[in-house]
Amino acid sequence: MFTPIPTLLIALLTLLPRPALSYTTLSPSSLSRIPSGGSDFDPTTGALLAPLLIPRVPGTPGSAAARRHFVDFFASRLPRWTVATHNSTATTPATGATLVSFTNVILRRDPPWAAPGDVARLTLVAHYDTLYRPEGFVGAVDSAASCALLMHVARSVDAALTRRWEAIGEGDGLGGEEVGVQILLLDGEEAWESWTEEDSLYGSRALAEEWDIVRHEGVSVFETPLKAISLFVLLDLLGAADPSVSSYFENTHWAYQKLSRAERRLREQGLLESKPKTGRFLPDEERHSFSRGYVLDDHVPFLQRGVDVLHVIPTPFPAVWHTMEDDGAHLDVPTLRDWARIMTVFVAEWMDLGDYLEPAPGDGQEEYRERDEL
Ligand SMILES: [Zn+2]
Repeated sequence: MFTPIPTLLIALLTLLPRPALSYTTLSPSSLSRIPSGGSDFDPTTGALLAPLLIPRVPGTPGSAAARRHFVDFFASRLPRWTVATHNSTATTPATGATLVSFTNVILRRDPPWAAPGDVARLTLVAHYDTLYRPEGFVGAVDSAASCALLMHVARSVDAALTRRWEAIGEGDGLGGEEVGVQILLLDGEEAWESWTEEDSLYGSRALAEEWDIVRHEGVSVFETPLKAISLFVLLDLLGAADPSVSSYFENTHWAYQKLSRAERRLREQGLLESKPKTGRFLPDEERHSFSRGYVLDDHVPFLQRGVDVLHVIPTPFPAVWHTMEDDGAHLDVPTLRDWARIMTVFVAEWMDLGDYLEPAPGDGQEEYRERDEL
């Protein structure tokens, strides 16, 4: 059936933000350029991970040391990322009337020419706090490993982002939606006594509430920072051997499929180290039916406000979960490095970096581009 499109509608359509989001599949040679993090994920000596394997209870010196680790890394190694903190306070059932402070760390890279309210941000999230009890708990899979992994992802795409943005300049000059990336390292995910709506998710609840209220200045594509989140990718409980991560949300199954495909292609090219008993970390690439259940975690306050969520958490949880065994010695480093590769591919594809990654030694300039417009 042919329906004439009124001229007014065409005029309105041209005023809408241009569709800036394209997800470009990496070529086989680009996949082989994806770094693994190497010894940086060593639990005792690794530059990214080892400093985090201490108790990080909110409001304690360990928590401050973890934050310093993040901030120093970005300030010294990745100075193009903006670093901000978001603070809130709350009482907890374990600490009585004393207010505990919770500090989220926000790391962001937007196109250099873009106004903050015009950037749709791929948002990568993990929590860095640890359980109040048992005393001395260091939370390696919960979630130091995920924090280290996100630092690695930022480092791995940083130069390519610079090259891409220098190459494309200010796009077509019409303004509209731009694409950026941000990392949220959240505080206060854990319950202090037992999980309730009030005793959990202290940092993410405060941040989601604030980002729902504050308005971008002037005329902007996105009214609030919350609306500027294109996808909320939450990593949790990663780093143990043999993980199996399901697709929990039908509306973001397409993103899960991209992540699962990244794993499959890396495995097919022999670029992953682990041999999981589960076969795949992300087995649901072809899945078509969904259960209603999902795991309560930092995404909930965002999900409740309409943000699209991809939750990368294994079920069942690792056997060491919430025990003193959740330490560096119980991590499976090859699994962690494989997650680092898979997530880096996902982010590089999202940010359309295929042409801008560092060539591996002896790498040919292979032309292979397959573009999925969203
Ligand atoms: Zn936990």
